[in-house]
Amino acid sequence: MIELPAFLDGTATCATTNTPDLWHSTLAVDEARAAAHCRACPLRQACADYALTNGEQRGTWGGLRAKERRRLLNPADQSWLDEHDRVRRPCGSDAAYRAHRRYDETCEVCEAAQAGRVEEQRRRLLETAHAKGGTANGAVLHRRLGEPVCVRCRAAVARQSAAQRKARMARAQQGPALALAS
Ligand code: SF4
Ligand SMILES: [Zn+2]
Ligand SMILES: [Zn+2]
Repeated sequence: MIELPAFLDGTATCATTNTPDLWHSTLAVDEARAAAHCRACPLRQACADYALTNGEQRGTWGGLRAKERRRLLNPADQSWLDEHDRVRRPCGSDAAYRAHRRYDETCEVCEAAQAGRVEEQRRRLLETAHAKGGTANGAVLHRRLGEPVCVRCRAAVARQSAAQRKARMARAQQGPALALAS
């Protein structure tokens, strides 16, 4: 028989609040609000243990959303709980990098992985720029990748500069004409 935990005595925040539905909701925004309330609850740890031990399938318990509890209980998933009982993803993942930023932490593994992802993204964008025959943005990407700008992207920059010069000259010529007309 399951021993009922103390928080079911009706005194916890989730039982006394005027928005109890937050703890049953599956909407991300509600889950976040429920979890924020849980973080200040003195029963949080016991509540999280209870939900994990008893395989609670729904709702937010002890600050843990249903999805997070499923992750923690899945042996194939590498999620872990930090010292503040926050569910964390393995280092190297995008989610882990974002969590470090959110919690103002530094992690060399995640910084390196993020740099790799940024470089990949830049290479993809550069491929697109080259598929168009080279672009001015491609030149920026080459520089950000720390490499020389290719001839096609250099030509695109030159074309862009020429077009801008032409537009400036056209505006300058229109200026006096408009002044004479008025
Ligand atoms: S930790 Fe959250 S769900 Fe658990 S008793 Fe406290 S407020 Fe309720
Ligand atoms: Zn990390
Ligand atoms: Zn190029």
